[in-house]
Amino acid sequence: MLPQNTSTQKAPCTFNINLTNSSSVPLSKSNLAAIEKDLNAIFATGGYRATLNNPSAASSAAFNYNLTIYNNFPASYPQDARLDSGTIGYTRATRQIPDSQYPDIYFPGPTGGVSVNHIRASYGAASTNPAALSFIVGGVAAHETIAHYLLMESGHPEQYGTGITADGFDYCKNVNRFISPAVKEQLDKICSSGQLPK
Ligand SMILES: [Zn+2]
Repeated sequence: MLPQNTSTQKAPCTFNINLTNSSSVPLSKSNLAAIEKDLNAIFATGGYRATLNNPSAASSAAFNYNLTIYNNFPASYPQDARLDSGTIGYTRATRQIPDSQYPDIYFPGPTGGVSVNHIRASYGAASTNPAALSFIVGGVAAHETIAHYLLMESGHPEQYGTGITADGFDYCKNVNRFISPAVKEQLDKICSSGQLPK
């Protein structure tokens, strides 16, 4: 059979975030439901869907991102993330491009973390109660998945400078929680090919 073209592809394109809570802040079922709702609302601004802890819902196995909530980033994370209290979320550079001309260069992979200590340092203690933390985690999860893993960018290039992929926005506020047209263009390509950029 010929490959299906994009117009007949099952819609909407779905991404899944696998969330592990290794922090000392307890997150209840309703907190997790709120995170999933927030995440899905952000992805829906681009016409996509997002699920939480439901890997088989993803349109492609590559559309899974694994996020762990830590008290602080563990030793496997770089020092500059661990020591910079402004770094709330971080995606690890674990992805090597097969047959790349640059085999020694690692790109952002499907694994990242959120640091509760860094959230407290940036936004105050009230931001780490379960409900406030859940709101922030929804935003960070979408940012890390889209801005770093899916776009394969370790930084924050100017063309993706608005919306959820913007650098250093306030995760406590309900702004920037949308996918910009420039980012949607890239995500549409990823969705129709079922593959990440190379
Ligand atoms: Zn970022």
